Amino acid sequence: MSAVAEFASAQVPDMEGHFGPFGGRYVPETLVHPLQELEAEYFRCQQDPKFQEELSYYLSEFVGRPTPLYLAERLTRELGGAKIYLKREDLLHTGAHKINNALGQALIAKRMGKTRVIAETGAGQHGVATATVAAMFGLQCVIYMGAVDCERQALNVYRMKMLGAEVVPVHAGQKTLKEAVNEAMRDWVTHVRSTHYILGTAYGAHPYPVMVRNFHRVIGDEARRQILEQESRLPDLLIACVGGGSNAIGLFYAFLNDPSVRLCGVEAGGHGIQPEQHAARFHGGSLGVLQGTRSYILQDAHGQIQLTHSVSAGLDYAAVGPEHAWLHDNGRAEYTYATDDQALEAFMRLARLEGIIPALESSHAVAEAIRRAPTMRPDQIVIVNLSGRGDKDVSQVAAKLNLRMPV
Ligand SMILES: *Cc1c(COP(=O)(O)O)cnc(C)c1O
Repeated sequence: MSAVAEFASAQVPDMEGHFGPFGGRYVPETLVHPLQELEAEYFRCQQDPKFQEELSYYLSEFVGRPTPLYLAERLTRELGGAKIYLKREDLLHTGAHKINNALGQALIAKRMGKTRVIAETGAGQHGVATATVAAMFGLQCVIYMGAVDCERQALNVYRMKMLGAEVVPVHAGQKTLKEAVNEAMRDWVTHVRSTHYILGTAYGAHPYPVMVRNFHRVIGDEARRQILEQESRLPDLLIACVGGGSNAIGLFYAFLNDPSVRLCGVEAGGHGIQPEQHAARFHGGSLGVLQGTRSYILQDAHGQIQLTHSVSAGLDYAAVGPEHAWLHDNGRAEYTYATDDQALEAFMRLARLEGIIPALESSHAVAEAIRRAPTMRPDQIVIVNLSGRGDKDVSQVAAKLNLRMPV
């Protein structure tokens, strides 16, 4: 059997949430029961036509699906290689793919009779998406956010507050995403009867990685249908940035069993691949357990989690989702990285050539398209997942590029 056929026949994840040797459920005893309850409710919802109908209703009427698959004509022409299509998740309500998952989990929380939702957030996009669906469904909402991130992403803190959420700054450790996750888990253990934890990426203990992936697979399902309509053939290459991995697995999933379609995930190369200067887990990471799951992790020789760096807060995390670890090790997907400088250059290039200001996270995927397209033939097709829009990054980029206000 070929590697791809063998891959396709494997049932992942298994009943315990294992993707090959990755994934699983590594949590304190107090969280085992809540996770089992969530798992049972999630799989009931997945089989329930009424739940699926409600989800599609809000996805189309509130969130703004389907998103266009847009041919980037000027970028394609300038690079002189493969045709580049952009999957426009940046056009969704609240400005990123995150709301696909936040909405799905809020619907589950309602079904479970929960009156309160909590979430962690890094750049604030997942916090805003969660605060938004909480307002829409009348749920109480608390968002944990590292104190450093609160400062870096003040705009999103104000948005969450305006939407009625309480934002709790976390002052422990590095004061960023990892500490916010710890705090959210602590809250969940204490208030589990009333509260659902809306985790924001395809990471964490089972069932989160499979559940979050399934709420985002709509991205790839749409893209597959759209490219067949527009080009009458499958694409040659998919490119997506990888933080925890939710937008990437959402795009990839519909194409996993199409061996002619290459899958490329792009991690944050930061200042370059030196310890503590990047967040490219497949370039310097090793097998370990962090925050509920087994995967590739940036850690030192003693298993201490290393500091990470990226210009984009959404990719700045020491571990990667277990399904990506599996796709990496079985060879179905490849993982590369873009540095801060390459992402900034791609950010400006897309703005100037296409009239689209991408999120800094998404700019990492655009950077890889800029690198790869010229090496491909004009009859080949690349789809880039534009996971979010760049409004949140405008002041940071302006400062880096020394843009001045006209006087
Ligand atoms: C959060 C975020 C990401 C990274 O998260 P994934 O789970 O890896 O998708 C990427 N792009 C945008 C715009 C984000 O907000």
